Amino acid sequence: MNIETKKIDGTKIASIIKQEVKDAVEAMAPETVGLSVITVQTNSSAQIYIKNKQKACDYVGIKSQIYTLDESSTTNNVLELIEVLNDSHSVDGILVQLPLPKHMDQSTIIAAISPSKDVDGFSKENLAGLIAGGSSFESCTPLGIMALLKHENIEIAGKKCVIIGRSNIVGKPLALMLLNEDATVCICHSKTVNLANEIKTADILISAVGKAKFITGAMIKPKAVVIDVGITHDENGKLCGDVDFDSCLGIAEYITPVPGGVGPMTIAMLLKNCVRAAQLHV
Ligand code: NAD
Repeated sequence: MNIETKKIDGTKIASIIKQEVKDAVEAMAPETVGLSVITVQTNSSAQIYIKNKQKACDYVGIKSQIYTLDESSTTNNVLELIEVLNDSHSVDGILVQLPLPKHMDQSTIIAAISPSKDVDGFSKENLAGLIAGGSSFESCTPLGIMALLKHENIEIAGKKCVIIGRSNIVGKPLALMLLNEDATVCICHSKTVNLANEIKTADILISAVGKAKFITGAMIKPKAVVIDVGITHDENGKLCGDVDFDSCLGIAEYITPVPGGVGPMTIAMLLKNCVRAAQLHV
């Protein structure tokens, strides 16, 4: 079978969304939109993610403020800062860059962010909202994936979606979003027995594992939609995803590249959530 595989251009779709956000921010003037980012100085990749978010905020006119705490900071230091930001009228969104150092209590820190400022959608209240309704904010990466599928007019209802990875920030919220759109969803993880069999059944396959070349063309169902969430490096140190992109060409119907697929959409959705937060706070 030789299918013409369409590469989904996440950078292009994200730029359309960023323009919409920019227009919305301008329309809100003289009110401003403010995002506070808390980071603990650890590894360099987190700093790159933060720089990218800051650049995107600058582009759309969101005022971002980065708080960089040193590695010896405690959970209480972060909680004190969150308390100040929760009370500040100029702060619409608060984001804590994960992962935090091991000595910090990540779930207590996330829980301290006011749900109405939790633009990452990681709080229990916002996650629960995906099940029960009433979520203020939904997690940015799954939201970005849903936006990619919708932009490409990919049918979701009735499709078998296989998600590899069960994290609270990608796999679980994405499963609920797909379910809410009438997909049949299967969540796989490190303990899944016979993962290969599950992958072969996927009309839409989403991989969020973080292992280079974890998925190859031989493993997927012909005409599958392949969404690669992973961010990792290949044997030459080059940035890549979970999917061996070239081996899926001619087999998948759609595929997202890394970089330039899900990553830019995550940032675009964060910006969108910030505007929503500001609108809620007016
Ligand atoms: P994680 O790192 O917390 O967990 C990885 C998941 O993979 C786990 O659920 C685990 O059960 C599963 N897994 C590991 N080995 C497996 C195996 N052999 N078979 C099946 N499942 C296996 O998950 P995360 O935080 O969702 O991140 C996953 C990847 O997605 C990482 O590479 C991360 O950098 C990337 N990521 C990208 C974006 C983006 O915007 N593009 C956003 C978030 C995460």
